[in-house]
Amino acid sequence: MTCPPSCADPPTLYWLTRRFGFAASIFFVGGVTGGLALPMDQLGTFRHPEGSTAPDCINLFSIPDAHSRLVVTAARAVLNSGVYRDEPEPAMAAPVQRSFIASPGSWAKTGLLALHASGAHRFAPKSLAGVGAILMLHRVREADGAGFAPNAALEVTPEFLDATIRHVGDLGYDFVSLDEAVRRLKERDFIRPFVVFTLDDGYRDNLTDAAPVFRRYNIPFTVYLSTGLPDGTAELWWAALERVIAGASKLHVRFADGAETIACATTEQKNAAWFAIYWRLRAGSEDAMRTEIARLADEQGIDLAALTRELALSWDEVRELAADPLASIEAHTAGHFALAKLDGACAREQIAQGLARHEAELGRRPRHFSYPYGDPGSAGEREFAMAREFGFASATTTCKGLIQPRHADRLAALPRLSLNGHYQDVRIVEVLLSGLPFAMARPFAGASID
Ligand SMILES: [Zn+2]
Repeated sequence: MTCPPSCADPPTLYWLTRRFGFAASIFFVGGVTGGLALPMDQLGTFRHPEGSTAPDCINLFSIPDAHSRLVVTAARAVLNSGVYRDEPEPAMAAPVQRSFIASPGSWAKTGLLALHASGAHRFAPKSLAGVGAILMLHRVREADGAGFAPNAALEVTPEFLDATIRHVGDLGYDFVSLDEAVRRLKERDFIRPFVVFTLDDGYRDNLTDAAPVFRRYNIPFTVYLSTGLPDGTAELWWAALERVIAGASKLHVRFADGAETIACATTEQKNAAWFAIYWRLRAGSEDAMRTEIARLADEQGIDLAALTRELALSWDEVRELAADPLASIEAHTAGHFALAKLDGACAREQIAQGLARHEAELGRRPRHFSYPYGDPGSAGEREFAMAREFGFASATTTCKGLIQPRHADRLAALPRLSLNGHYQDVRIVEVLLSGLPFAMARPFAGASID
């Protein structure tokens, strides 16, 4: 029988107590108690499920050595003591995600801040932090203070971006381009940790609000562009659905399994309506979802094409951004479909079409790629193989995780770390960069947002 982690590695405890004193002792008393209380097979939940095709993000659950297991178990016990109670099964992920987004600033945020306050992330082994991180953003703009803001996770303020850059710089990270990150991975140049900034989809505020911040610090950044947005052939359906619900007091929605009337007069009802509609539509085909959202928008007098023009970059603006030597515009398909839900030919066509439009408008073939939505249900091994076939130097998912040396062999399935609008606190970024939360518990990994 394997020895429990609490007795497996006394030198670690000795070293931590010497180095961190009383706080470490308290922390580890909790850890040892919690560690003993946990059945050993629970440690198995940290491991990548055998035969799973989930991208590499889950691999951080693999805890290779006794030192790491001890730290993770201790931190877990601290959180278990009061911050969260239930670790959801995978089937529970969606409801947890809903309650978590519905109440930003909830237990997950509290847990991450508690970790920061405990200093636990400083105890984390360097192996958890990996060699760098690819940060994911979508929109960067001033908060408008709207009570109903279901897409708020997708936007951060310029001030938070600025503060993050300064804080991450102070932590000793180099800010590099995707090209440089790939070079470091291939050449195993891990002397200093790196951070790459990426922004998905192609929002106008990337030019007006994000680029000035990156220029202030001379930091390279990547915009993954869905070419259908400037072309006017794709819609920002999630923004459209938000407008539809914001402007209605009740909606008659046609789902695949029947129609339903949903009240959305108050902010509370609007939030409930968002989750009722978003998840049920997203569970079906994208075509059906987009058709229904277009119908609802039409009913509410919302012009989808005008909404895209309002929020997304035009080709002229894309060119303006591309002229900045700090910016690189990379591929995110043409229509922003979940590739895994399309048949092989259609998925390839989506990538090829995006590349063709890119080359026609910008005179350059993108070298890097990001999978639309990027979660395991939208991008799996088949899509990773496609990205390799198209010759991309790298491709990123939205799976949470940090970059490890082994990702040199998984350049078509790189995990990212979301700069999430609900977590605009540099202490949380610091804790996430330690890798500890990813190794600790599924709830943090389950809070997945495009
Ligand atoms: Zn996207």
